[in-house]
Amino acid sequence: MTDFDAIVVGAGVGGSSAAIKLAQMGKQVLLLDRGQPIGSKNLSGGVLWGNDLAEILPNWQDEAPIERFVLNKKVGFLSEKDATVIDMHFNDWNSRPYNGSIVLRAKFDEWLANQAKEAGVTVLDGITVDQLLLEADKVVGIQSSNDTVKAPVTIIMDGANSRLTLKAGLRKEKNMSESKSKFMLGLKDVLALDHDKIEQRFALTGRQGVAGEFVLGNIPSNVKAGGFFYTNYDSISIGVVVHLDSLSPEDRTYRILEMFKSHPYIERLIQDGEGIANLKEYGAKLIPEAGYNMMPKLYGDGFLVGGDAAGFVFSNGLVIQGMNYAIKSGILAAEATSQALDKSDPTKTSLKLYQKLLENSYVLKDLKKFKDVTKMTKNKNLFKVYPGAINDGFKHAMTEKGEPKQRLYKTLLQSFKQRGAGMFTLLKDGLRGGTKL
Ligand SMILES: Cc1cc2nc3c(=O)[nH]c(=O)nc-3n(C[C@H](O)[C@H](O)[C@H](O)COP(=O)(O)OP(=O)(O)OC[C@H]3O[C@@H](n4cnc5c(N)ncnc54)[C@H](O)[C@@H]3O)c2cc1C
Repeated sequence: MTDFDAIVVGAGVGGSSAAIKLAQMGKQVLLLDRGQPIGSKNLSGGVLWGNDLAEILPNWQDEAPIERFVLNKKVGFLSEKDATVIDMHFNDWNSRPYNGSIVLRAKFDEWLANQAKEAGVTVLDGITVDQLLLEADKVVGIQSSNDTVKAPVTIIMDGANSRLTLKAGLRKEKNMSESKSKFMLGLKDVLALDHDKIEQRFALTGRQGVAGEFVLGNIPSNVKAGGFFYTNYDSISIGVVVHLDSLSPEDRTYRILEMFKSHPYIERLIQDGEGIANLKEYGAKLIPEAGYNMMPKLYGDGFLVGGDAAGFVFSNGLVIQGMNYAIKSGILAAEATSQALDKSDPTKTSLKLYQKLLENSYVLKDLKKFKDVTKMTKNKNLFKVYPGAINDGFKHAMTEKGEPKQRLYKTLLQSFKQRGAGMFTLLKDGLRGGTKL
């Protein structure tokens, strides 16, 4: 006797998607989350890229609490006081289906879990799952405090800091500190800013929004970090992502966020949103950046693992994407579970279909192809040399001094050399970066 057909642990975007899909296929599902209300523990930048949710909720872009849709994307290099920014404005992004939906997870995840409820899922918040329930080495459900719940299949979607995969020995590492080099730490503030001010400042109308990502060359010490901002309806999400293994005990991560916020390029964009009175939300969370190289066992007798818990994040310095991978893996986990249940075989023999579905989708195709991207994104020169050199070079070339002009490539090469990157370093890093991107 089991209580449900399937249990989903974690009502982030991945877990709720899995639960909704299973319910749509007629299965009895229990969805559990430690957050109360659901969403209160969740954090993203956050742009939900793509349209995977349409597979289970065709009208989600009309109905979900979406702050704005990305029309304008900026990617830039910040040095001490200067910035060089590529400004992308793609008209197609301005219409349905939108390419990037800017969301605040506290609202969005609560809405998504409600969709699960409406689809017939039993949703419980404020429940922390302590461990998987095992019988003869098979997962047969979960345990929370003194309660146990049984189901033929448990889908583990408990996020980056996945205690369940650790406790069950599904990861290569024995504890999280062993995997420091595989994680980034994200910190984020949400700053209240008047809706009209946002539209004027960023030249936006209606639901249009801006997403900005930056390589931070303005942080002293050895810290390697990137920064981001996203325009919400009447606030701005702003934050940094820091390579955990570049932090020393003296570094204070909130100071890194402050340095990003006070950079002259950024400061004017968040003006009037600073100060404690405007701080609507703040938080920090791990990001599993090693992707394919940190994947735990994805399936076994009675269980599947997806989303951040499986390391399904793609980050190359130009984008950070995890929500779309979590949603897609949740939907595929539901499909594999449903087929296994229909065959009355919740063992690894049937559940290995999940791995196959992932391999045929962009989830594992991307993660495999870009499995070495961290060799590029962790390159010290990317933070300590290139932002300064790019800014120095372009500033020199664009500043009129009433003197004879030099060719641009010579000016740029000089700037790189002055910052410590000669021709060989450039070639080596260029090749390494070019093939990894
Ligand atoms: C600062 C920052 C910026 C980011 N920006 C972006 C972005 O712009 N775009 C993007 O696509 N991705 C972004 N990401 C990554 C993205 O947030 C994740 O990839 C995504 O949230 C993964 O979804 P998930 O459902 O797998 O896990 P999560 O969203 O982490 O959900 C896990 C859920 O499990 C619950 N839970 C955990 N343990 C237990 C337990 N033991 N029992 C019960 N419940 C439990 C938690 O409460 C949570 O609700 C960002 C991440 C950070 C930190």
